Amino acid sequence: MLRIETASIVGDRDVCDETGVAPAIHYSSVFAAQSEQDFTAMSTRPQHPENYTRYGNPVHERVKAVMSQLEGTETALVTGSGMGAMTATLLALVRAGDHVVAQRQHYMSTANLLDGMLRRLGVEVSFVDQTDALCFARAIRKNTKLIVLESPANPLLELTDLADVAQTAKSRDVLTVADNTFASPMNQQPHALGVDIVVHSATKYLGGHHDLTGGVICTSHTLAERIWHTHVTVGSVLSPMDAWLLLRGIRTFPLRMERINQNALALAQFLCAHPDVEEVKYPGLDCHPQFALACRQMRGFGGVLTFRVKAGAEAAKRVVASLRIPQMAGSLGGVNSLAVHIATMWGGTRARTADTDAIPDDLVRYAVGIEHIDDLKDDLSQALDSGCSGG
Ligand SMILES: *Cc1c(COP(=O)(O)O)cnc(C)c1O
Repeated sequence: MLRIETASIVGDRDVCDETGVAPAIHYSSVFAAQSEQDFTAMSTRPQHPENYTRYGNPVHERVKAVMSQLEGTETALVTGSGMGAMTATLLALVRAGDHVVAQRQHYMSTANLLDGMLRRLGVEVSFVDQTDALCFARAIRKNTKLIVLESPANPLLELTDLADVAQTAKSRDVLTVADNTFASPMNQQPHALGVDIVVHSATKYLGGHHDLTGGVICTSHTLAERIWHTHVTVGSVLSPMDAWLLLRGIRTFPLRMERINQNALALAQFLCAHPDVEEVKYPGLDCHPQFALACRQMRGFGGVLTFRVKAGAEAAKRVVASLRIPQMAGSLGGVNSLAVHIATMWGGTRARTADTDAIPDDLVRYAVGIEHIDDLKDDLSQALDSGCSGG
């Protein structure tokens, strides 16, 4: 088993017999058979189809090979976005009358999928406090088919005890799916902790440059086959160009993630000591209420931190607007830092899951990039000074 730093570079080498050192982009929506026999073979292997890009493309195969190694799963599927991955997975595994257990905090569109689309299709969903593993166990019913997990969860950086919940789920014959976007496989491997399906927005750390939209589903051959049939129907297809950009991003992903982990921890510590900051939420801080769990299930703590500005919501907005290095944009995972005032970004669009009201209106999310830490600190320092001096 190769280490992540090596697998990200050579993990796809045996997939396609091309001689280029860099992979080719197969910019074709359809592939021709060499013979009638060949066409029959292509068409009767639905899980490995090479005849139509919605079904599969040689660049997809490379991404799948690398990602299954990074997450330690048998195989992987690629999709046109993180939401494409989550939607295909959930729609494949539940039907009307089933019950799903999810967290009180999820990525906004995931919350909408659970609270809106699934309910509309007749699936019951319970939202539980993810910081207490017992809540998941208590929420399981006779018709529970799936537990949806996300750790750390946006935007309060609360953690879920993945090993504990996965073990409970297994003993009750319930499948688990974990969104591993915030941690990334560098910092956390949910499958090694017992989770059945690992989902990613590749738009974030894996792509790493804010220039592509993509998703990945890492799981067993059996579950991948089940999900694949829904995936090709949903039609969330990764374009060959974005697949190629993603592969290129993955080559440097471990290197970027190392720097991002370091920068975020340093910035979180800096904010903790700052007089204008009320509270910092980052799993790598020993003041995080779940620091012990973070150390148990994560190797690094990721690039997203949130903090509350003492002077209140208006000051928090001014701090974000005063930042010179991070642009004001609602994403994460790229080489460049981004920052947002959470309440403004969400407006009225978030699903009303159990705990939406727990999001303070003075909360700033800072998604750390790979810039020099001293420049990030200096910039944050001047932004806090000007944002909190009274506008
Ligand atoms: C961005 C994100 C998604 C959705 O991914 P898209 O690629 O934008 O569809 C899902 N989960 C988390 C945690 C994310 O950050």
